[in-house]
Amino acid sequence: MRVLVAGGAGFLGSHLCDALLGEGHNVLCVDNLITGREDNLAHLTNESRFEFKIQDISQPFDFGKVEYVYNFASPASPVDYMEHGVETLQVGSFGTFHCLEYAKKYGAKFFMASTSECYGDPEVHPQVETYWGHVNPIGPRSVYDEAKRFSEALTMAYLRYHKVDTHIVRIFNTYGPRLQVNDGRVISNFMKQALTGEDLTVYGEGQQTRSFCYVSDEIEGILRLAKSDEHLPTNIGNPNEFTILECAKKVLEVTGSKSKIKHEPLPQDDPKQRRPDISKAKRLFGWEPKIQLEEGLKLSLEYFKKAVARTAVAK
Ligand code: NAD
Ligand code: UDP
Repeated sequence: MRVLVAGGAGFLGSHLCDALLGEGHNVLCVDNLITGREDNLAHLTNESRFEFKIQDISQPFDFGKVEYVYNFASPASPVDYMEHGVETLQVGSFGTFHCLEYAKKYGAKFFMASTSECYGDPEVHPQVETYWGHVNPIGPRSVYDEAKRFSEALTMAYLRYHKVDTHIVRIFNTYGPRLQVNDGRVISNFMKQALTGEDLTVYGEGQQTRSFCYVSDEIEGILRLAKSDEHLPTNIGNPNEFTILECAKKVLEVTGSKSKIKHEPLPQDDPKQRRPDISKAKRLFGWEPKIQLEEGLKLSLEYFKKAVARTAVAK
């Protein structure tokens, strides 16, 4: 198949490009590089089945016939989407619309990368797909949360009204090589701080929880969902839940760092708890994650060491 990956120069998108090439497909990657890096695709320069185009998907585009459209384009870390609030709303609305129109025009399947943020600061725990969420529609995170909720609504509308074959994944905190060191997400911040001897910045008391999924597990779940008949949103994440303080200690242990922990104010509307209920993915296509946090951090260590050194040289 010829497949399009929007946002393919980002962390997850670039791993998805690799996986799709590995399955034998021809991959057309489009990205405007707002948060992604061409460096993530450098290893594909001589791959004849891979094309890269710089394109803002919030503007209309047409690169000819494809059989599958994967929409992974959007700033994803809270620091990035709060810096690019309007662009985040645009890519979640116009960008998703253009991808769906593209899929409709060529009779292609469509896959939407949505998020656990659709559940907001959840009152149901763990989060099951049937929960409608608890989102502040006008708070600082709303540029992302509501854009993704709109993307989901638009995707369901193209399924119902235009019979496009669509799929929606709700991704829970994923990490691994190619995560941007300066994107402000908790794993990137803690790894960078631990490796440079800075204090680890735990926001609030660090009692809020997250459940971290290693990138290879996430991509495997995404590919299985993409091949399934399921149209409704499906959680893909690791249900092993940690407080942020526990996560900081795990990073110190894995890196062998002597850094200390310091506390900084908790950002507004920061979800207090997050953990996926993955029984649906298990039941539908037998997926569950294999790599737990400690092993995943060890697998990511070399990448972070190099990325931190590169950032220091650039400075
Ligand atoms: P990322 O920032 O590394 O990648 C996003 C990519 O999209 C970047 O390359 C960026 O340049 C590109 N992009 C943004 N706006 C664009 C536009 N208008 N046109 C073209 N390209 C554009 O982030 P990521 O972690 O790889 O996230 C990828 C997708 O997965 C996002 O949609 C994100 O919302 C979703 N997601 C990720 C996580 C996670 O934990 N990593 C969790 C939930 C959802
Ligand atoms: N966090 C933290 N220190 C940091 C970065 C993040 O304590 O340096 C916390 C943040 O407040 C949140 C959690 O870690 O509770 C996960 O944050 P992240 O930005 O990675 O993603 P989120 O899950 O909030 O989208």
